[in-house]
Amino acid sequence: MPELPEMEHYRSQLSPLLCGQRISGVAVNRPATINEDVEVFKDALIGRIILFVERRGKHLLFHLDDGHRLHLHLMLGGWLAYGEQGPKKDSHFQVILTFADGNSLYFGGLRLGYLHRITAKVAIEQMKELGPDPFDSRLTLEAFRKRVAGKKGKLKTTLADQRFLAGIGNCYSDEICFDAQIHPAAAVSSLDDTSVERIYHSIRKVLTEATQAGGYMEHPLTPDDTVTGGFNEQCKVYDRKGEPCFVCGTEIKFETLTGRKMFYCPTCQKED
Ligand SMILES: [Zn+2]
Repeated sequence: MPELPEMEHYRSQLSPLLCGQRISGVAVNRPATINEDVEVFKDALIGRIILFVERRGKHLLFHLDDGHRLHLHLMLGGWLAYGEQGPKKDSHFQVILTFADGNSLYFGGLRLGYLHRITAKVAIEQMKELGPDPFDSRLTLEAFRKRVAGKKGKLKTTLADQRFLAGIGNCYSDEICFDAQIHPAAAVSSLDDTSVERIYHSIRKVLTEATQAGGYMEHPLTPDDTVTGGFNEQCKVYDRKGEPCFVCGTEIKFETLTGRKMFYCPTCQKED
């Protein structure tokens, strides 16, 4: 599932392409992807201008000039493409938005994911459970320590909890734990001050590096895009079961932790 780096990469790439663009066409091939009658959805969107694209955690909000938002959550398997032509047949995409300049934004793989047209008020309501963004300037080390204090869960589960921090999921929780050299199944309550500080810095370091590398999405965003997915080959533990640790050579271990995949180096990452 796309996480903060993937969605931030999409936001930064799409913003200059979409901002100020007027929607001239809407195709909906899977009505379950949207939240209202197809004709109502189309009528409401055609003629609207995208003012800007906002990211909240793993969510994207396309702000429209009538005060509504298009709320996108890619969930598992969702992806985006942009250009004069789609990388696959149009029928392959659940929704396509076409703009006055002839380019289109293609929404693919939205089986669990969705694209909902909502009011600003509903958007605020839907996002209110999200924890702070890891890059929020108010999330200082001291503020992070306060959020960690009293937490009872395991480290990986806590990092991937959207109410704790918004935007981290299965892949980056493992990468952050590896960077901080702490076992992902360590109890948060057992972490000392130094460990909490290492995690705080690793969160920003790993997410920054992954965003700059283009995240791990497989599909290019545009036909000439060579950046998207650049982080896929840079994961140090995620999806590397049995492969040697880049630091010590030990085989990367795979387990499940309360239903989540968990990859770690048993030598570099101790539980205490
Ligand atoms: Zn190692």
